[in-house]
Parts: sequence; C-alpha cells; structure tokens
Amino acid sequence: MSQDDHFCSLEHLKFDNRFTRDLPADPWAANARRQVQKSCYSRVKPTPVPGPRLVVHSREVAELLGMTGEMVASVDFAQVFAGNKVLPVMDPFAMCYGGHQFGQWAGQLGDGRAINLGELVNPEGQRWTLQLKGAGPTPYSRTADGLAVLRSSVREFLCSEAMHHLGVPTTRALSLCLTGDKVMRDMFYNGNPQAEPGAVVCRVAQSFLRFGNFEIFSSRNDLETLGKLVEFTICNDFPHLGEPTPATIARWFHEICERTATMVVHWMRVGFVHGVMNTDNMSILGLTIDYGPYGWVEDYNPSWTPNTTDASGRRYCYGNQPRIALWNLAQLGNALIPLGGEVEPFQKGIEAFSASYALGRETMLGQKLGISTFQSNDVALAEELFSLFGMAETDMTLFFRALARLDTQTETTPAGIKELIGEAFYSIDELKGELLTKWADWVFRYQARLKGDGLPDGIRRERMNAVNPKFVLRNYLAQEAIDLAEQGDFSLIRELLEVLRLPYDEQAGRERFAQKRPDWARHRAGCSMLSCSS
Ligand code: AMP
Ligand code: MG
Repeated sequence: MSQDDHFCSLEHLKFDNRFTRDLPADPWAANARRQVQKSCYSRVKPTPVPGPRLVVHSREVAELLGMTGEMVASVDFAQVFAGNKVLPVMDPFAMCYGGHQFGQWAGQLGDGRAINLGELVNPEGQRWTLQLKGAGPTPYSRTADGLAVLRSSVREFLCSEAMHHLGVPTTRALSLCLTGDKVMRDMFYNGNPQAEPGAVVCRVAQSFLRFGNFEIFSSRNDLETLGKLVEFTICNDFPHLGEPTPATIARWFHEICERTATMVVHWMRVGFVHGVMNTDNMSILGLTIDYGPYGWVEDYNPSWTPNTTDASGRRYCYGNQPRIALWNLAQLGNALIPLGGEVEPFQKGIEAFSASYALGRETMLGQKLGISTFQSNDVALAEELFSLFGMAETDMTLFFRALARLDTQTETTPAGIKELIGEAFYSIDELKGELLTKWADWVFRYQARLKGDGLPDGIRRERMNAVNPKFVLRNYLAQEAIDLAEQGDFSLIRELLEVLRLPYDEQAGRERFAQKRPDWARHRAGCSMLSCSS
C-alpha cells in the first residue's frame, strides 16, 4: 500500500464493532419482518440502489471521523454511504427496540429504516457508530419500506449539523446521498401518494441507543438480555460510573436524567420543537435524535407543534417538552428497576431531572437576558416577557438579538422601543397603544435591572449574542432548500450548511437567512405543518 493510497481509500478506516461482538444477535439471518426475541440486533445489509450520488457532506464530521478530502471525493464514498458497498471492516445491523408512542406502549419497533454500518475508531481513538437512514428494509420495518425521501433527508442532514453548531447535544450527519430511486409517499395521508426522490443520510453518534432499546426487554420480562445491554452501555458509554452493579445502574439513570434535562434546556433556548418525543426517539446519551416533523418556533407560542399528527392533542408542543421528557424518563426508570435495584434511587433520578431542568432553565434565561447573576425575582421579569410575546406574534430569535442592542445609558422612549424591537413583530402595526405601553414598562424595568447588574453594555451584548442565535434552520428556509433540491439544485442546502456553521456570528451579507417567516410560508406544508410521512 502506498502512502497516497492510505489517504485516499475508505478501506483503510479502522472499525471495531463492539455492539455486534459483545451482544446477543438475532440467530435468524433472513431479512424478513418479524418479532425478534432475546436479541439486541439483527444483521442486515443495506439494499443496493441504482444511482448513488453524493449531494453534500459535513466537513467537520468527516474530520471527526479521520476521513480525508480524498476519501470524501472518492467514487467509493457515495457507494458506501448510499448503501451499495459494505467495507470488509463493517458489520451492518439493525437494532431491536420498542417504545411508548404518544403515551401508549407500542411494542417492538426497531431500526425499521436505519442500518448501522459499525463502529469507526478515529485516529484519536474515539469510537463513532455510522448509521445509514433510508437504506432499505430490515426485520423491524413492519409494514413500511425502509426508505427515506429527499425532503426528510435534507431536513435531517441540515438540522443535525445546525444543532451541533448551536451547541445542542445531537447526533451528527456525515453525508446526504441520492439513491437514484423513486419512493412513494402520501405526504398528507390523504390518499395522494407521489413518487419522490429517494435519499440516504449517514448519521454519526457515539451510540444510537434509545430508551426503547431497554424498555423492549423489560416489557418481555427478558431480564437476561436487558442486563447484558445495560452492562454493555455502562461499560462502553459511561465507564466513569464503574462496575455495573444495581447501585451503578441507579447512578447511571440519574445521569441520563441530568443529560436529558440539559438537552431540553437547550431546545427551549434555541426554540426547537422535536415533534415526536416518543421513548423510541429519546437517546440514552441525551442527544437530540431522529429529525422528523420537528420545527423551530417563529412567533413565540408554547402550544405550537409542527407535527400535524399531533395537532389535536399537542402532546409534543414546544412548551410541553420538559414535562414529556420527564414522563419518558419515568418509563425508562420503570424498565430498569426490575434489574434488582431499589425504587428510591430511581425516584431520586426523576427528582434530579426536575431540579436540573429548573436550575438549567434559570441559568439559560439569565444568559438569554444578559443578566450575570440571575436572582429569584428575575423569574418574574422573564415570565412577563413570555406573556408579552403571547400578546402579538413576536419572533423569539429576532427579539433576543434585538434586545442585546439595548443601550442601558440612554433613556428609552416608546418610539425608541419600537425602533429597537419592531423587527421581531410579525405585524408591526400591533405594537402601539396599550401593548406598546406594556413593552415600555417591561423595557424600563429590564434596563433598571441591567444597570443594577453593572455589566458594561459591550460585554453583555457579546454574552447575549453567544447564546441567542442569529441563524436557525427556519422552517421555511429548509423548505426553500428542499424545493430547489427537488429540481436538482443543491446550492441552497450547501449555503445553509455554511450559514448554520456560525449561528451566533453576524455574518454580514447573509441577512436573508435571519428573516422572520414570510407570509407565503405561514400555512405552507413543510413550513408550519409536517406529517410523520418521510
Ligand atoms: P419515527 O416516528 O420516525 O421515530 O419511527 C417510528 C418507527 O417506525 C421506527 O421504528 C422507525 O424505524 C419506523 N419507520 C419509520 N419510517 C419507516 C420506513 N419508511 N420504513 C420502515 N420503518 C420505518
Ligand atoms: Mg424514530
């Protein structure tokens, strides 16, 4: 092998497939839909596709994996990451998991359209599981086809990278490939299926284990397999906790509760709504996982959900996310208790979620408002702000960037306030009369609070702009990129990926990506309404 060859070929990546080596496998080799018992996974190969084509990749993820530019540019790259070629070092498999969906136990679900290629070990010795989403059916595909369409793959690819750059714990995305196949989808479940371009995203995470991977064995009273998976997870992903005894399992649960709280605080900070917080979509590492009918709050509204499937119950709306995370953690706790532990430490874990979330939220609100030491009566100031948001459609993202520009030394007037925050209002005409008086009152008190805090304006502004993004993957921007991509133009996907790499920077010349939702997008499918069809 020449030196050049070493840098060019994917064949030289190092893999160490612990999951398939150490955990019980489904003994049946056929790729047929079935209930899989006493096994953590089934070996299954991606389905070959007719026209693999790389659309876009994330250079940060390629670097993280130790992939060179030559590797990404190689013909093999699209072959491997669209599912046509399995490298000899890979050991592809689909995981068995269950889940509570919309509050009900749903039984076995599993990787119905995700195929893990194996665990890559990068030059630093870090382990990363690579997973293809949309690479064909598995034993867990139930009645579906195992495929994914371009629109949902663009959304997953862009959003996972955007979330990472925002500092939100998330699975990553290496690549987005077209398959050359068409996939039938009934986007609105209204009897109008259309042929859409098929695509595959390669996702990357230290582990793709979900709450549902543990729940499934507990639901079947298969404590032996549950114990093996718990031991594997603690040893590999939580080694700092020590030997997996019942006490360790309780501490592990405690840590999952805290990590989940941290993740949800971030979601609330940036205005992200996951949309389908079923327990099969909750990562054991506290990562945002499974970008389906997610959305970004535009006008601030706690009861907003992008998911049309959830429109009536609004179980997974923006404001419910902390409560649902807690409910999901309780299901995970119930699944783990049979491993011989006491109930009480698990109860403490649940309490730790609430405490962590409350503290995390206060810190986050203080940071968003630029207050250096958040005090108990600042909670009221923040809550009043949220109630003002509810009185006229106000864009949360634009608002906090505008607020950072406030000058504490200049006395504010109603006209000055309108000038400062006006751009955050969907209808500026609403900002008058009683509402403007209320805003003036709030800004006056906020200004007084900032003066008391004593932080120089420049420093406060910098701190606020480091937690209040200017650029998020606004629902309509993703849709614009999809509309173009469906016509074969991928330029906006690439441009958005670039913009979203630096979400807190001003990025002069890129203001068009920091505009509130235009009117055309208000009721347009894909912008404010999404179904699970993907
Ligand atoms: P989700 O609502 O996307 O989290 O999916 C719930 C379950 O349905 C998971 O087990 C998925 O793997 C499975 N699933 C979703 N879409 C498909 C599909 N097109 N083909 C096979 N399985 C799917
Ligand atoms: Mg899912």
